Amino acid sequence: MRIIHRYLQFDSHLKTIKPVKTILDKYSHSYNYKEDLECVIPTFKYTIEFYLYEDNPDFDVIKREIGKFLEPQVIGTEYEKADIKNAEWYIVNTGEYQYPQPEDDFAYLKATFNLDDYCHLCGIGKLQNAAYRLKTTPKQPNNQFWGLHWDFDAIFVRQEAKNILDREGIKGIKFSNPVIHRTNVPIEGFYQLHIDTILSNGFDCYNTKTITCKINNEENLNTDKTSQCCGRIKFHHPMIGGYLFDKSIFDTKFDIVNCCEYFGSGGSANRLQIVSKKFKDIVDKNKLKGLSFIPVMHNRLER
Ligand SMILES: [Zn+2]
Repeated sequence: MRIIHRYLQFDSHLKTIKPVKTILDKYSHSYNYKEDLECVIPTFKYTIEFYLYEDNPDFDVIKREIGKFLEPQVIGTEYEKADIKNAEWYIVNTGEYQYPQPEDDFAYLKATFNLDDYCHLCGIGKLQNAAYRLKTTPKQPNNQFWGLHWDFDAIFVRQEAKNILDREGIKGIKFSNPVIHRTNVPIEGFYQLHIDTILSNGFDCYNTKTITCKINNEENLNTDKTSQCCGRIKFHHPMIGGYLFDKSIFDTKFDIVNCCEYFGSGGSANRLQIVSKKFKDIVDKNKLKGLSFIPVMHNRLER
């Protein structure tokens, strides 16, 4: 795993960018620099972008010198081949291709979920009790795995992926058809993949923020003192060091599970979907497209 600092600066002049270039040249550090003097938006006349890895022997000194002019825009984690290869469990993500329907005022929530335990302030507690409703038959024919905007809990699969997961005996899953919202007709050959198992608590939040559903919370939300906060917690997605889960909560009996904890910010909260190495191997072997894999960590990152 490598920790990467991304710097990006747009400017209408060279006051900041020039000294930054000089420092990077001194350490023979690569960067992308662009001049567009004809640009109608003055701010975009000069651009510099570069990445600084913490394992660079000159990291401390470059960061300190650059720090007089620029701060990193984002600090993130880059997984190496060995991290992916050596992991036993992986968080999976799909692309986002449609809004669940009806989308006005988030009315899809009422259409697809029992909301008795749902909190609209933090987004925790919805329980699916009906099919997802889509606007149109999904495009992206090459993607065997597919997903929605707003709702990151739901994974959808095409017929080929379903057949393969069935054939390979993937445990703890069920399938149902989403429907076309306007006609109520189930979408053929296209399925929501339901995951039966929820893990026990086991997320270590050492490298991220805990967000509580309370008045004036850690995100400075719920400032209205009459807000009916539910008191539950969720976590921001960790940016540095990956997602750390206690190894003992995983059981090889299952190939795909939901974690117990919720992740997100503001009014958004979702569980993570986690798959076994066997599941990943099946996806890789059959070249099923549309799913990305983030290795689950079991050790804290030393920095
Ligand atoms: Zn809440």
